[in-house]
Amino acid sequence: MDIKSKNQEFIQKIENNRFLKDKRDFLVNGQHPEILVICCSDSRVIPEEILSSSLGEIFVIRTAGNVINEGELATISYAINHLHINHILVMGHTHCGAIHSVIHNESLPYLDPIAKRIKHNIGDISNEREASQINAKKEAQYIKEKFPEYKGKIEYQIYDIETSLLTK
Ligand SMILES: [Zn+2]
Repeated sequence: MDIKSKNQEFIQKIENNRFLKDKRDFLVNGQHPEILVICCSDSRVIPEEILSSSLGEIFVIRTAGNVINEGELATISYAINHLHINHILVMGHTHCGAIHSVIHNESLPYLDPIAKRIKHNIGDISNEREASQINAKKEAQYIKEKFPEYKGKIEYQIYDIETSLLTK
């Protein structure tokens, strides 16, 4: 990928759109995103596109398998306590490579923290869609446990990469 020319395309897109340009200028003063989305690093799962959003609207954490470990907890704490986020979505997805690799006991260097977390969440479930669902549901519950003072909304959804639909 030619990152410089791709970046120029993005700049042109903003420069050609009055709304986006004004928004970018406004956001220089700070961000007030409406929602925190925790989703997979999968290139087919793009939260800004899936939720038809743009600059400044979504605070995003992406990890393989949308799992929450130490760094993610710190980022969630920042979102809740500093940005005062009041809506959190854990977004799992179908055909997730991380879920697949745990179900099939595949190992990769450094995968352990993620694999252990997924295994802890899904137990012996072998149906991949069901495993994605439970994994997202348990991570949403985990946030509730870790941030009992948080009074906003927490939910989970599964993004279907075949239909682009979000469902439980
Ligand atoms: Zn995935």
